[in-house]
Amino acid sequence: MNKEKSEESCKKLEGSIVKACQVEGCSFNRDSKCHALAITIGDGNHPRCDTFVQEKAEGGIETKTVVGACKVASCGHNKNLICGANFIDVIFRNKHPYCNTFQTKYLLKV
Ligand code: SF4
Ligand code: SF4
Repeated sequence: MNKEKSEESCKKLEGSIVKACQVEGCSFNRDSKCHALAITIGDGNHPRCDTFVQEKAEGGIETKTVVGACKVASCGHNKNLICGANFIDVIFRNKHPYCNTFQTKYLLKV
């Protein structure tokens, strides 16, 4: 991609919004919302939040959190390791913060 095209697509990209997160034990979580500027999804092949952290201090700021990167290439919303969903929800599943918007590529096409 040339530089002009790349700059044009950057302007269009706003990133997938993290609409809600149930993981109240995370330092970035207050009132069921994430306060990180951006998160990374993907822990190995699992669509887990890799930005999850438990510190004594509160993390983040009042902001609109986006998915900066997603390592789960098997998700139908994933293109070039970027999330293409308009928004995602993070829930607590099997003791892990989990992207509840994950859909396998196959299921998304059906
Ligand atoms: S688990 Fe992830 S999405 Fe949820 S508050 Fe923490 S960093 Fe944000
Ligand atoms: S919806 Fe899919 S591509 Fe988007 S963050 Fe979740 S697992 Fe990644």
